[in-house]
Amino acid sequence: MYEKIKLEAQKNSATLVVVSKTRSVEEIMKIYDRGHRDFGENRVQELMDKKNELPQDIKWHLIGHLQTNKVKYIAPFIELIHSIDRKKLWKELHKEALKADRTIDGLLQIKIAEEDSKYGFSQEDVIRLLDQSAVSTYDKVNIRGLMGMATFTDDTSQIQREFDELAKLFNQLKSAYFSEKDDFDTLSMGMSGDYNIALERGSTMLRVGSAIFEEG
Ligand SMILES: *Cc1c(COP(=O)(O)O)cnc(C)c1O
Repeated sequence: MYEKIKLEAQKNSATLVVVSKTRSVEEIMKIYDRGHRDFGENRVQELMDKKNELPQDIKWHLIGHLQTNKVKYIAPFIELIHSIDRKKLWKELHKEALKADRTIDGLLQIKIAEEDSKYGFSQEDVIRLLDQSAVSTYDKVNIRGLMGMATFTDDTSQIQREFDELAKLFNQLKSAYFSEKDDFDTLSMGMSGDYNIALERGSTMLRVGSAIFEEG
């Protein structure tokens, strides 16, 4: 499935992040050897362990809920944090970016799913923070766009609706708060079960794990 999904992403000018959580170093190396460099993990400890054992030119993405006390470990090298889901984390990322003397790229995670369990800002909360000038206050965090997860359901029209909602918010925020910036360009949506829908709805970045590793 890797080649098929990679091709689908390319046709739509989207980046594919291969989600390697729970996969072994050997499994990851098989994808790496096909030329792939963007990998995503959801836990810091697991990411650090794998980073130590794998080639240093891998671009690591953090896609899961991130505790503030773990930020310091990844701040020096992380490619993109997809899961900025609260003000406290945004602030901590800014602080650790200053210490690491770099800018950290990040996405604001928006809650679009029906389920309570999904993390993320509500649309109201993210707009309130942007109105309070969070972007300039925490300017060592370079906000590149939004991330969201659709409800886990077979109802295609619901998934479409949720992705459409995220894409619409992305465009609204881009023109209202990020129009001066030419790199607010990333809409991270689409996983194994819904990446085709996500691409149709304007995704620029897929996060796909099981469909790639469990091809049988
Ligand atoms: C696990 C995970 C994925 C990938 O899920 P698959 O269904 O295995 O493709 C994508 N995004 C996040 C945030 C995840 O935790």
